Amino acid sequence: MKKTARLKVKPSYVKSLKAGYPLISEDAILNLHEIKDEGTIVELFDEKNTFLGKGYYGKQNKGRGWILTRDPQEVINESFFHEKLKNAAAHREALFNDYETTAFRVFNGEGDGIGGITIDHYNHYYVITWYSEGAYAFKNDIIAALKNNVPKVKGIYEKKRFAGKGTYIEGDDFVEGEKAPEPLLVRENGIHFAVYLNDGAMVGVFLDQRDVRKKIRDKYASGKTVLNTFSYTGAFSVAAALGGAVKTTSVDLANRSRAKTQEQFSVNGIDYSEHDIIVEDVFNYFKYAVRKELSFDMVILDPPSFARSKKHTFSAEKDYTGLLEQAIAITEKNGVIVASSNCATFGMTKFKDFIDKAFKNAGSPYKILEEFKLPTDFKYHREFKEGNYLKVVFVKKG
Ligand code: SAH
Repeated sequence: MKKTARLKVKPSYVKSLKAGYPLISEDAILNLHEIKDEGTIVELFDEKNTFLGKGYYGKQNKGRGWILTRDPQEVINESFFHEKLKNAAAHREALFNDYETTAFRVFNGEGDGIGGITIDHYNHYYVITWYSEGAYAFKNDIIAALKNNVPKVKGIYEKKRFAGKGTYIEGDDFVEGEKAPEPLLVRENGIHFAVYLNDGAMVGVFLDQRDVRKKIRDKYASGKTVLNTFSYTGAFSVAAALGGAVKTTSVDLANRSRAKTQEQFSVNGIDYSEHDIIVEDVFNYFKYAVRKELSFDMVILDPPSFARSKKHTFSAEKDYTGLLEQAIAITEKNGVIVASSNCATFGMTKFKDFIDKAFKNAGSPYKILEEFKLPTDFKYHREFKEGNYLKVVFVKKG
């Protein structure tokens, strides 16, 4: 049995918790210091002793745990986890049955009823990310519930992203079952990706951009020159090349990105030597492109929310407009900019303001062609806006 503790909620936080906000924030609780153990089951009460919710204590980078139920009678036990995993798997039924797609998210934290835990599926191998030691305390129950509710589990890996120790904790991430081949080949709408489940924090593809990659391939790439900035393993470049782009140029600062991008082209039967893969700071590349008078029919911008390189610090919230201005300068007339941000501190409205401002500053008309948010497997919690972080806008330079 896990320990149980009573938490007293500060009056100013009662309203949002009553409305369904699922994160237990440090500031909201008067007696958090009384809790010693990660994974302690907590019951939250207001000053009049009204029950507000029940959940677990787990120290994350943001937050100190999650509310799991509003029903005082509900018990957090094996069958509770079983029910959550069952519902989550049912919500992804179409993806489990989609022959063309073997990589997707199966469980998305608070969106599926348990904050602090995500589970991704890669061709019958599963990667569980634990966002606190408290979440990790439920490991046995979660793994049992997972195995009970998904079609086939070949092997399980985990990523520990506990607070206070940096984010990702290095180590052997293999948990049980068969080890996955390295690389493990997965499909996404027929696009192949090589992923590595035991090679650090990131496996090689960001699953939340699935719909965007498909759209680039199916509707925008044919006959175009494409610049993919912050390209990581070149997933957008591969989608564009498969869609008939005449050439793609991938730019990323990380040394590993070259070999990784070559590999993603190769597993799709594309000759990577026909594409440019450049290891460089994007901001230097923009200057170079202007100097050489290069321009592109499509420019993809998918920066991290925050990045520090030798010469630049980039913060999406402060610097996205400037980034767009540099992209606009090397985009052909009638060309398309794919502007993406995963920054949780602003929403779509503000993101569109950045776009508007950048085009105004550049003295160019523009038209928004389409917009994307998280795909359906990245289910989010209605009251937890930060969880609905993705914004992607296709903008035509007029
Ligand atoms: N667009 C990618 C994901 C981007 S992840 C995809 O779809 O898969 C962010 C990437 O930005 C990382 O690979 C990181 O190395 C790179 N990066 C961060 N700062 C950079 C900079 N100043 N110049 C170039 N790349 C940068």
